[in-house]
Amino acid sequence: MRTGVGTMSQATRSGTRDEARAPQESMAQMFGADCFGLSEMQRRLPRPVFEAIQSTIRSGEKLDMGSADAVAEAMKEWALERGATHYTHWFQPLTGATAEKHDSFLSLDDGRAITHFGGRALIQAEPDASSFPSGGMRSTFEARGYTAWDPTSPAFLIESEHGSTLTIPSVFVSYTGEALDTKTPLLRTMRELSRAATHALRLMGRDARRVDSTLGCEQEYFLVEREWYMARPDLEVTGRTVLGSAPPKGQQLEDNYFGTIDSRALGFMGEVEQEAWRLGIPLKTRHNEVAPHQYEAAPIFQPINVAADQNQLLMDILRKVARRRGLAVLLHEKPFAGVNGSGKHNNWSMQDERGRNLLEPGKEPDRNVEFLFFLAAVLKAVHRRGDLLRAGVASAANDHRLGANEAPPAIVSVFLGQHLTEILEALLESRPTGNEVKAFVETGLATLPEVRRDNTDRNRTSPFAFTGNKFEFRAVGSSQSTSIPMAFLNVAVTEAVDELSDRLAKRLDGGEDRNAAILAVVREAYTEAKPIVFNGNNYGQEWVEEAARRGLPNLADTPAALGVLERDDVKDLFQRYHVLQGHELDARYRILLERFNRMIQIEAVQQIRMVKTGVLPAAYRQQADMAAAYDSATKFGGVAVAQQSEMQAYMKAVAATIDALNGVRAALRDGPDEEHEPLAAARHKVDVMRPAMEKLRTAADTIERRTDEGLWPYPTYHQMLFQ
Ligand code: ADP
Ligand code: MG
Repeated sequence: MRTGVGTMSQATRSGTRDEARAPQESMAQMFGADCFGLSEMQRRLPRPVFEAIQSTIRSGEKLDMGSADAVAEAMKEWALERGATHYTHWFQPLTGATAEKHDSFLSLDDGRAITHFGGRALIQAEPDASSFPSGGMRSTFEARGYTAWDPTSPAFLIESEHGSTLTIPSVFVSYTGEALDTKTPLLRTMRELSRAATHALRLMGRDARRVDSTLGCEQEYFLVEREWYMARPDLEVTGRTVLGSAPPKGQQLEDNYFGTIDSRALGFMGEVEQEAWRLGIPLKTRHNEVAPHQYEAAPIFQPINVAADQNQLLMDILRKVARRRGLAVLLHEKPFAGVNGSGKHNNWSMQDERGRNLLEPGKEPDRNVEFLFFLAAVLKAVHRRGDLLRAGVASAANDHRLGANEAPPAIVSVFLGQHLTEILEALLESRPTGNEVKAFVETGLATLPEVRRDNTDRNRTSPFAFTGNKFEFRAVGSSQSTSIPMAFLNVAVTEAVDELSDRLAKRLDGGEDRNAAILAVVREAYTEAKPIVFNGNNYGQEWVEEAARRGLPNLADTPAALGVLERDDVKDLFQRYHVLQGHELDARYRILLERFNRMIQIEAVQQIRMVKTGVLPAAYRQQADMAAAYDSATKFGGVAVAQQSEMQAYMKAVAATIDALNGVRAALRDGPDEEHEPLAAARHKVDVMRPAMEKLRTAADTIERRTDEGLWPYPTYHQMLFQ
């Protein structure tokens, strides 16, 4: 290694800070300590104000200015006691990341310094929004957007060396009311789904005031040495390696999943968990993932907007703690070719205000039909809007993962498990199978044969799986904001619930028995949605063919998937539920497409640069070494035939690399104009640029395998993954 990257210093190997900070505080004390949650509010607010804010959180009632002032004052006091100097609205612009702009609490009163934070500042702020993407919704001269406090997601403190910052989760909208962020649409879908589901529950004879969609994100990531990361400009700039030969071991031995977590990673996780707990993120699970140096962290589920915020925050914590400990966290969906990629399984369900899970098959007979109703609604939703769900996870990065024989394919289908499928089939045919099923199918009132977890969780290949009492949307990418796919899922389910409710209402109006009517609606919905159910192996080629026969879309890449957002029926759906107007959806389409184009462009430029400045120079030195060896061999009368053919093969590989390099250059030069023809440009990226890059990679990787390790300019896969 020329770069001196090969061996890690002992200091970075053994971790840095905080072995000492380890759990002196109890977990319970730590949890939420840096978060201004309900209990802190209750302690600090006069009762009527606390009740007002509670009803704002629970049912979205508007908070009066007097109460807002009181909340702001209490928040400020709480933050100042903890050393805060600043506050910020924290929001999620359409870049998919988070953004913040800090103001100090400092105010001058007749030249005297005081701290001040009023209700108005809590509720609304105005960052300079002109440089955030708006997809053409605003021209810069009317760039004003404002952030507005989202009281349903608790404020928290972010520490730094010079005092901490009170961070207030917010939405980001334009003055004309357009959503300029990923969160506003999610909040809107929560409201709609709640309305639809409570209405359905009422029709089924149960009173619910509110239904929350719930989310638990399983976050996957890789950890690599920071020095190695810094020596790989591709990782640093694009998040993934655009070159690199996979080591022979790879993960064929499959010995890593749930394997022993090495102590360095464990130290990292421990520090992440403590930071997360302090912020009220209920991290629960940690383990090794399939690939070497790949890990997962999962919290206990929360209301969907809180979980989405907390996942963004968790990604920040992962980055921050990694940096502190001489590591780099890779959140990219496919940092290493030929090695398992990373996802963010989104565990999703719905629950009422008493915490009853609507997708819990459960032991209460009178709730079975209700469970089946919502199950059928989700099936309908995914069947009708599977392509929309696919669009919600589309990105340049996720393209490398979806369908890569390790992750769910780009074809969306639902795994129900044999047991549940059997129950629905029996219902469909009114076919009495087992006794328990028979009783159930006939009356809808007997106990639903228990859906055991081990019956439902075996299939890891499905993009959308029922796992006992929730659905697990597995196609979501590890680095993406979950707000987009979750908003899409929510709106799709809302539509289906409404449709099933309408049918149920008609039957009830016609005087049908309630249970019979619900079962009839379930039967009908299942019949229609059945093609979406697939319990087999999603990785096989047979499924691709079978899915085509069933008429399920196979949107293999991002431009194909994003096209869905431009369809009239999709625009109508978003409009109907007041989630996004047509032009707001257009804006998202444009931004996502632009991001896709830009990312691949950057990858191509990066790849060219690394080949030109790293790979080829190393190859020329290798070639010179070979030539010198050949010369000396012939000089001493040796037989150099073997060396000669080695050399020729090497030179061929170099020539192939230069050829391929020119291919990528040409692809960069010749594509359609990204600004004026973004879709054509994106197709060109997929159809021309990616194959050209693949070819260059193959050629350069061949050279890597044949070149003196000491000459190689970049940390290798072997080093990054196995050392
Ligand atoms: P797995 O075997 O898939 O890891 P877990 O039981 O560990 O399953 O759950 C994974 C995630 O699912 C966790 O974040 C958990 O809190 C979440 N989860 C469990 N129940 C629900 C629910 N009703 N709604 C949303 N998420 C849930
Ligand atoms: Mg899971």
